[in-house]
Amino acid sequence: MAPFEYRRAGGVEEVLAQLGRPGLRLLAGGTTLVDLMKLGVETPATVLDISALALDGIAVEDGWLRIGALATNTDVAQHALVQAHAGLVSKAILSGASGQIRNVATIGGNLLQRTRCVYFRGTDWRCNKRSPGAGCSAIDGLHPGHAVLGTSAACHAVHPSDLAVALLAADAQVHVRSLRGVRRIPFDAFYVLPGATPQIEHALAEDELITHLSLPVTGAAPRSDYLKLRGRASYEFATVSVAASLRMHGGQVAEVAVALGGVGTVPWRMRSAEALLHGQPLTDAALDAFCDALLDTAVATEQNRYKLAMARAAVCRVLGGLQ
Ligand SMILES: Cc1cc2nc3c(=O)[nH]c(=O)nc-3n(C[C@H](O)[C@H](O)[C@H](O)COP(=O)(O)OP(=O)(O)OC[C@H]3O[C@@H](n4cnc5c(N)ncnc54)[C@H](O)[C@@H]3O)c2cc1C
Ligand code: SF4
Repeated sequence: MAPFEYRRAGGVEEVLAQLGRPGLRLLAGGTTLVDLMKLGVETPATVLDISALALDGIAVEDGWLRIGALATNTDVAQHALVQAHAGLVSKAILSGASGQIRNVATIGGNLLQRTRCVYFRGTDWRCNKRSPGAGCSAIDGLHPGHAVLGTSAACHAVHPSDLAVALLAADAQVHVRSLRGVRRIPFDAFYVLPGATPQIEHALAEDELITHLSLPVTGAAPRSDYLKLRGRASYEFATVSVAASLRMHGGQVAEVAVALGGVGTVPWRMRSAEALLHGQPLTDAALDAFCDALLDTAVATEQNRYKLAMARAAVCRVLGGLQ
């Protein structure tokens, strides 16, 4: 690992004053950052440890479930308010990593974890995300786990977070703070498609700290679920995942939200596809039309085409189980 300076932050103001300095990286649980430093993918000059900041609260306030950025994945998944108001978030978190990792991994760090593309993590390979303009070893190499949605000529790496898929379906917002003030980013604007600049992955500016997430808490919450399909039953990233919520009224769809993981360069949701289901009974034909629209822009190769059939089957299984 390259040498670096380690500092422990005592308060949020101290972090904001230093954020944006070249070569500075924040350390929360460290389960992503330290791995990447060991691999030589990240080589920060200074690591600022934010784990002692008081940003780990979980509460319901004014109709919103508020989750602190430094709450651990375990604490969030097991919290009674999260289980009561955002069951699919709890289920998505518990489907990821291992108990030991979830005990230290934080919510903010989970959102900013980097892709598991092996060519990104191996510095001997060409990778536009790690070294802009270097090329992409995955495109001509092995890519059965790579994305079929939101891809570009520069990069087709999958976004790996389970939590992010659930938050997208749950209409979450990301709250951030910098010396310039505070702002909230709707979850469907948080991640950025790779386009020609795959090194830019999200809408967070260099000087911004994630302080917390908020999720709307409604009186009559729709039924929801998270399904993760993967190579083995635990300790494995998603091949395809589905986070969905559904409320039927009089045999017809009154509310629906569906987000996909494992298939996109960003967690994938299409509100225009959901609109096709509104007011319809959940028939096979309606589900087919929905999946056609959801996957309409997919670009697959012989290696990863199977993900399209898996995604269709997973969506039908989850929505069918919720009606
Ligand atoms: C073996 C293994 C298996 C895994 N399996 C899964 C899985 O199946 N599903 C899944 O979803 N995830 C999985 N993960 C990823 C894991 O969930 C993430 O590594 C973890 O959530 C990151 O959180 P952290 O607090 O450790 O982040 P860190 O490593 O501390 O930070 C990650 C990044 O986020 C930045 N950051 C952290 N907090 C903030 C903040 N508040 N504001 C601004 N920037 C911040 C850091 O600067 C850094 O760039 C796995 C990880 C490992 C190592
Ligand atoms: S798919 Fe993206 S992350 Fe993977 S090697 Fe290509 S550019 Fe890098």
